[in-house]
Amino acid sequence: MKLLGLHHVTAIASDARLNAAFYTNVLGLRLIKKTVNFDDPSTYHLYYGDHVGTPGSVLTFFPWAGLRRGRPGTGQAYATSFSVAADTLPFWEQRLHAHGVALKPIATRFGESVLTFTDTDGLILELVATSAPDPRTPWAHPEIAQAHGIRGFHGVTLALPEATRTHGLLTASMGYRQIAAEGLRTRLTVGDGAPGTFVDLLVDPSLPRGLQGGGTVHHVAFRTPDDAAQSVALEEVRALGLNASPVMDRNYFHSIYYREPEGILFEIATDAPGFAIDEPVESLGGKLMLPPQYEPQRAEIEASLPKLS
Ligand code: ZN
Repeated sequence: MKLLGLHHVTAIASDARLNAAFYTNVLGLRLIKKTVNFDDPSTYHLYYGDHVGTPGSVLTFFPWAGLRRGRPGTGQAYATSFSVAADTLPFWEQRLHAHGVALKPIATRFGESVLTFTDTDGLILELVATSAPDPRTPWAHPEIAQAHGIRGFHGVTLALPEATRTHGLLTASMGYRQIAAEGLRTRLTVGDGAPGTFVDLLVDPSLPRGLQGGGTVHHVAFRTPDDAAQSVALEEVRALGLNASPVMDRNYFHSIYYREPEGILFEIATDAPGFAIDEPVESLGGKLMLPPQYEPQRAEIEASLPKLS
């Protein structure tokens, strides 16, 4: 199958307001889409990314009010990492500290510096300072110089009880290739191997089994260029004996879902049509966007959702 890297990561939050404030004000991402969970229109589906929501920059949340915290661990996408320019971590340390974010000491991983912290729900995030070329433009934020800004994903870390089967699926069927191994971690990439493509497999015996809840990742989506490539991927996933969903229309992309052998939910999403399909780029995220089936209930839905600002 033809995959280009990561498309988006979707995680679970417990408070929409705190979530939006953290990702837009503190991290400086753009709220690019304010919609509802298509399977549960009483909750938001919030999307954050760069100025147009380029695939590979998009972190999304289902904020379920009052939801209990999950437990990060094996069988989950354990950490989500963003690409920032080399030598920008001192800026981020200072900024995050000033916002009361607890930070781990900067670590080195595969020769790059990594700053680890969590969001307001305990979701594990990392900033990876990389000198690898990354032409993606960060969203403009008044307090974050463009040279310091988040450019999109660097990669995700999948925590696994053992890596063999997941490694096999990614490399034999999903087009990934191993490029490095260090300690408990194996790094895979796909396509051009640029930031936004990496998947690290982490086998750390000290990690508990993950439990889904607030502050954990719900699924990881991979990019495929178009519907034709997605059809091929669907056939291939089914031929492996994995239980794949039919193609779902997610308005901004088309998706299929399946679980990899250790239980992590994977999605393959098309690059098109993108987030400008229902509102202009200049005003992305400004208004609650509903899919046609929920438009008749707009007043009721709007009244039930918390105001974000
Ligand atoms: Zn998704």
